[in-house]
Amino acid sequence: MAKVLVIGAGGVGSVAVHKMAMNPDIFGEVVLASRTKSKCDAIAASVKQRTGRDVATYQIDADDVAATTALIREVKPALVVNLALPYQDLAIMDACLAAGVNYMDTANYEPREEAKFEYKWQWAYQEKFKAAGLMALLGSGFDPGVTSAFAMWLKKHKLKTIRTLDILDCNGGDHGQHFATNFNPEINIREVTAPARHWENGDWVETPAMAVKQTFDFEAVGPKNMYLMYHEELESLAKFIPEMERARFWMTFGDAYITHLTVLQNVGMTRIDPVIYEGKEIIPLQFLKAVLPEPSSLGSTTKGKTNIGDIATGEALDGSGEKTFYIYNICDHEDAYAETGNQAVSYTTGVPAMIGAALMVQGVWKGEGVFNMEQFDPDPYMDMLNKHGLPWQVKELEGPLAF
Ligand code: NDP
Repeated sequence: MAKVLVIGAGGVGSVAVHKMAMNPDIFGEVVLASRTKSKCDAIAASVKQRTGRDVATYQIDADDVAATTALIREVKPALVVNLALPYQDLAIMDACLAAGVNYMDTANYEPREEAKFEYKWQWAYQEKFKAAGLMALLGSGFDPGVTSAFAMWLKKHKLKTIRTLDILDCNGGDHGQHFATNFNPEINIREVTAPARHWENGDWVETPAMAVKQTFDFEAVGPKNMYLMYHEELESLAKFIPEMERARFWMTFGDAYITHLTVLQNVGMTRIDPVIYEGKEIIPLQFLKAVLPEPSSLGSTTKGKTNIGDIATGEALDGSGEKTFYIYNICDHEDAYAETGNQAVSYTTGVPAMIGAALMVQGVWKGEGVFNMEQFDPDPYMDMLNKHGLPWQVKELEGPLAF
């Protein structure tokens, strides 16, 4: 039974802490720290009411490495689970190194001034973690996270090689608002307004944001428009499945979302460079975040389902020629809310965060250095997804995607 310190009291942090508390045989003690202590206390109260367990809470500014190191030394966890924002990744990794504790997160580091989504900054910590005899696991959410475990499971059980891979992320939920994002608006809008990039024949192919659109009929949701985007797991997948000829990431957006986003972009509200307003520097996107609904407030009204999965084509393991498999999870917003008080986008990230943490503290996934999801046996992860609220299905398709 291990003690873990979770940093970040948003929707994802809330789900992860609830799910950890529901598994006392793995997580003997759960501690939650974040920038705003009252948010930690609200989560702790919900956990107490739902599970009867106590969660100790702390205030921390995780950008402050010395303060975070001191907190880790005081709490003495076996693992720090970083569910704050991608900006904090390097500072929390530094604090883990200073305090001698393992690290895990769900999103790769991003510098504030540039929406870049690259692993290079965190991969640069490889030697430091190795030398300290510590482990860092990067990207144990749904995408990145489960989508990589799905690909590696197909590679282990169905396909000798993967020639093409498409990740399809569909949120068929309706929150009843004109415009809102389902996770942190600043991170979400940076992601969707960045140029699209996919992997093809050993190189990255860049296209303008939201310029490539296809329609796909998602089980339990129905036909949806989806757009080609860049997503960080494409980088680790291309590295660890080197035979891939093409890897793409698609996300669904409704027409109303696209219209709002286009207007916001056209008027400059999604800019991430500072502008002077009444003598003070402000970042338009951060101001926009302040006026948009808090994603955590959408939980009680969101209805519908998410459907996220991988379609992979390659040479079958059983020698039967080229085959295409589709592996996916369907998650219901209202069920997720009933269980943890958070909608499915937080749920589908918080549950895999709990699972990655569980495999680390139990020593099922272990090593020294910085690791991506693709480097470990997917089976125990996939097994826990089935047991802890994100059951998956796999089916053979008649052939590769037509587009
Ligand atoms: P939220 O914005 O809801 O929560 C982030 C939390 O981190 C907030 O409580 C915030 O505090 C806290 N925080 C921010 N800065 C600091 C800081 N300097 N020190 C301490 N705490 C801080 O985001 P989400 O819960 O939606 O997302 C959490 C993470 O999960 C993000 O990194 C996101 O990119 C990632 N994610 C990953 C996905 C995946 O599938 N892999 C999918 C969705 C999200 P405060 O409330 O005071 O601002």
